[in-house]
Amino acid sequence: MFKILRLFFAPLLLAGSLLANGARAAETIKAVKLDGSSQSARLTLNLSGPVKYTISTMSNPERLVIDLRDTQMRAKLADVALAGSPVKRIRSGIRNGVDTRLVLELTGATSAQSALLTDNGVQLAVDLTPRAAGKNKGKVQSVVRNNSAAVADTPRSNKTVKSADNGGQRDVIIAIDAGHGGDDPGAIGAGHLQEKRVVLAIARELADIIERERGYKAVLTRKTDIFLPLKTRRDLARKAQADLMISVHADAFADRAATGGSVFALSNRGATSTMAAFLADSENQSDAIGGVSVEGRDDDLVKVLTDLSLTATMDSSLRIGRHVLNSMSGITHLHSERVEQAAFVVLKSPDTPSILVETGFVSNPSEAKKLASAEYQRRVARAIFTGVNRYFSQNPPPNTYLASLRRKSVPQNVSAADNVATATP
Ligand SMILES: [Zn+2]
Repeated sequence: MFKILRLFFAPLLLAGSLLANGARAAETIKAVKLDGSSQSARLTLNLSGPVKYTISTMSNPERLVIDLRDTQMRAKLADVALAGSPVKRIRSGIRNGVDTRLVLELTGATSAQSALLTDNGVQLAVDLTPRAAGKNKGKVQSVVRNNSAAVADTPRSNKTVKSADNGGQRDVIIAIDAGHGGDDPGAIGAGHLQEKRVVLAIARELADIIERERGYKAVLTRKTDIFLPLKTRRDLARKAQADLMISVHADAFADRAATGGSVFALSNRGATSTMAAFLADSENQSDAIGGVSVEGRDDDLVKVLTDLSLTATMDSSLRIGRHVLNSMSGITHLHSERVEQAAFVVLKSPDTPSILVETGFVSNPSEAKKLASAEYQRRVARAIFTGVNRYFSQNPPPNTYLASLRRKSVPQNVSAADNVATATP
C-alpha cells in the first residue's frame, strides 16, 4: 500500500484569508484529462506553471480533493470523459479568492499517487488505483506535494502511519521502487522490451508477496507508469519510515553477452567495479531524461555523506544485499558474486538502508525473454523477498512483530519466506 498519508484538514483557509477580492491567481489550469480504466486511471491537469498543491482522499462518500494554491480554473470540466473510470463526477470551486479546489467523486475507495511533471509544459498527474475494500477504511488520507517536482514536505506526524496490528508490534516496512517510468523508459532491450515495464511488474509482485506476509508492509514508490525523480523516490521511502528500500532494475549493458542478477549499495568511496560505475551513471541519468533539474544534487550528497548514521545504514544495506544476492543465486546466474557499490543517487539516504537490485539485463536477448515472462518475474520477486526475510528474521528492528517472534524463539527454518518458496507452482 502506498502510505504517504497524513491527516489534513484546512490550513489553506488561514493562508488565503487576507487576500483582497478580485485578486488574480498566478497560474491557471489550462486543461483537464482523464485516461485509463476503472482499475487504473490518470487525471492530468495541464498547468500554466508550477503550483503548490495538496491532495486528500476522504470517505463517506469517497472523494479525492485536490487543492491548488494561487491557481485559476480555465478548463471545462463538463468536457472530461468519465465513463468507465473510477471517477463519477468532477467539480471545482474557488477558495480564498485565488485557490482552486477540485473534488472528484469516486466510485469506491481509491489510492492516489501524484507528481508534478515538468518535461512537456507543467502537468499535475494523479494516478488513481481502486483500493481493496477494508484496507485503510475510514481514514482521511493525504498526499502532500509542493511546487518542485521533488517531494519537499516532510510530514513529522507520520508515526501514526505504522501499523498497530500484530498486538501493538509494528510491521517491518519495505519500500519498493520500480525504476524509471513515464517519460523515462529505462533500458530498452531485445524485442523493444522496456525496463520500466519489467521492473514495475516485478515490484508489484514483490509488494503482493510482502503484503501477504504477517509482520511486513509494502510501500510502492510508483504503482503505474509514472515518472518520479530519484530524490522523490528516496523521500517517499523515508516518509513511509521504511526499514529498507529496494530499487528494482533490469538494465542494458554495451556488452550484449552480459547476463545475470546483481545487487548494489551506495558507495562513498567510488565504485567497486567498472560495471557498477557504468550502471550508477546510467541510472543517475533518469532525472535528466524525465526533465528534472539536477541542481543541488552534489550538495545533497555532501550532506548525506557527512552524516554519521550513513555508516550504519550502508552496513545494513550491504548485509541485506548479501542475503538477496544469495537467494537470487537460486534462480539466476549472478553477474557479480558480491554486493557492488557505486554512487547511485536513488540510494543516497542517510537513514534508510537501500539496495538496488539488477534483476537481469534486457540487452541480452535470452535474458530479455525471461524477464518479460510473468512466471520469471514472480520467481525474481520471491527470491528478493526470501533474502530480505532472512535478514529481517535474524535482525528484526525493535518493536516489530518479527522481533516478538524472535523473542518467542520461533525456529528460523519455519520463516515466512520458506512457506512462500514452497508455495511456488
Ligand atoms: Zn535501470
